[in-house]
Amino acid sequence: MKYSKLFPKTLKQTPTGADSLNLQFLTRAGFIHQEMAGVYTYLLLGWRVLDKISDIVREEMNAIGGQEVIMPVLQPADSWKKTGRYTSMDVLFKLKGASEADLILGPTHEEIVYPLVAENIESYKDLPIYLYQIQVKFRNEPRAKAGLLRGREFLMKDLYSFHVSDEDRDNYYEKARKAYLEIFKKIGLPVIETKAGGGTFSSISQEFQVLTPSGEDTIFICKDCSYAINRELVDSKKCPECGGSLEEKKAIEVGNIFPLKRAFAEVFNLSFIAADGQKTIVSAGCYGLGISRTMGAIVEVFHDDKGIIWPESVAPFLVHIVGLDMEGPLTRSARSGQVSAREKAEHIYNLLQAESVEVLFDDRTDVSAGEKFADADLIGIPYRIVVSKKTGDKLEIKKRSEKETRFLILEELIKMLKD
Ligand code: ATP
Ligand code: MG
Repeated sequence: MKYSKLFPKTLKQTPTGADSLNLQFLTRAGFIHQEMAGVYTYLLLGWRVLDKISDIVREEMNAIGGQEVIMPVLQPADSWKKTGRYTSMDVLFKLKGASEADLILGPTHEEIVYPLVAENIESYKDLPIYLYQIQVKFRNEPRAKAGLLRGREFLMKDLYSFHVSDEDRDNYYEKARKAYLEIFKKIGLPVIETKAGGGTFSSISQEFQVLTPSGEDTIFICKDCSYAINRELVDSKKCPECGGSLEEKKAIEVGNIFPLKRAFAEVFNLSFIAADGQKTIVSAGCYGLGISRTMGAIVEVFHDDKGIIWPESVAPFLVHIVGLDMEGPLTRSARSGQVSAREKAEHIYNLLQAESVEVLFDDRTDVSAGEKFADADLIGIPYRIVVSKKTGDKLEIKKRSEKETRFLILEELIKMLKD
C-alpha cells in the first residue's frame, strides 16, 4: 500500500472528546473514525488489525472443532420475551419492524442458537455441537466512553457448545480455556485467567484479563500463588486458594467463558433422547471474546508517547518504508547513471511484496522527513526501513519497539523478515 493513496492520513491534533488513549492514537493514526459514542468506522489500517485478530481466533476455534456460522443481528423479540431478557437486559436495543413487530439488535446470541439447535437435534448421536461466529454485537452501554474498550456496536467472537452431559461440557470447557490462552499468546498480549461469578445463567466463569491502569475491571491477584479473582468474588483480602495476601489491580476483560446452567435449555426445550431412551436436557457452555476490545487493549498496553507499537502478529503491515528524497525521477538518471532514491524505494517495495511481506510505503513528496518519521511512530508498524539518497546500497532498519537502527542489504533484510 502506498501511503500517498491511503485514506485517511494521520491527524496532527488529538480529536476533541477523545478521552481514552486507544481512541486518541487509533483516530490520529487513521485506524478508526468515531461516528458517535461507542460507534466507529474501521478504516483500512484498523480493519486489517481486526481481521488479523479474527484470523487468530478463527484458527483456534476451528482447532477445537468449532463450526463457523453467522447468525442474524436483527432478531425477533419473541425468544427474548421467553427468556425474560427482553425486559431484564437493560442494554438491549429494541426496535419495530413492519406491522409493528417487536425486534431487537443482538447483544449476544443464546436466543437464536438455542432454538436453532433444539430444532435440529434428536438423539445423543447428534451431540456434541460447537457453533461460533465473529460478528457485530449491539449493546446500549450507558458508559460507552473508553474507545474500543466499550462500544455500543462492537465485534465479538461467540462460541456455543452443546453436550450430552456436564462432564462432556466440562472437558470441552477446559479445551476452550486452553484455546483462549493460545489465542492471546499468538497475539502477544499477556492475559491473566481470573475466576469470576457467572451472573444469572452460570455459577462461575473464567475471565481473561489484561492488566493496565486504564482497565475498568478490578481484579485481585495473590502475591504468593498468582491466583486471580474478580472483585465480585472477593470477601476478604486473603487468597481463597492459599491464604496469601491479595493485590488489587485494574484490568480489561478481553474474554469470558461460562459453563451454563440449564435455564436457557429448559426455556427452549433443548433436549435429546439419551442412550438409555430418556429425554434429557442438553448441557451447554458459552465462550465470548471481544475482538474489537482486544484491539483497544493492545493499544492501551503497547504504546509509547509517540504512538502505537503493534505486536507483529496483528500489525496492519509488517514493514513501513519511509522514502526520503522521493522527488527524483523514477528512472535511472541519464546524466549520472545513478539510481534515484525513488527508484530504489520502489524496487524494494515491489520485491518485498513479491516475497509476500506486507508493506506500507510512504512515498509522499510533499511532507518533511520529520513528519514521515512521526507518522511511522504513530502508526506503529513493527519494522521501519528508511530509503534515501544517503543510505547507499544499505537500508536503515529500525524496530518500532527498539531504539537502535541497523544497516542491512536487501537480501539480509528479507531473510530477517522471513525468520
Ligand atoms: P463487560 O463485563 O465488560 O460489560 P460482559 O461480561 O458483559 O462484558 P460478555 O457478554 O461476556 O461481556 O461478552 C464477551 C466479551 O465481549 C467480553 O469479554 C468483552 O471482551 C467483549 N465485550 C463485551 N461488551 C463489550 C462492549 N460493550 N464493547 C466491546 N467489547 C465488549
Ligand atoms: Mg464480564
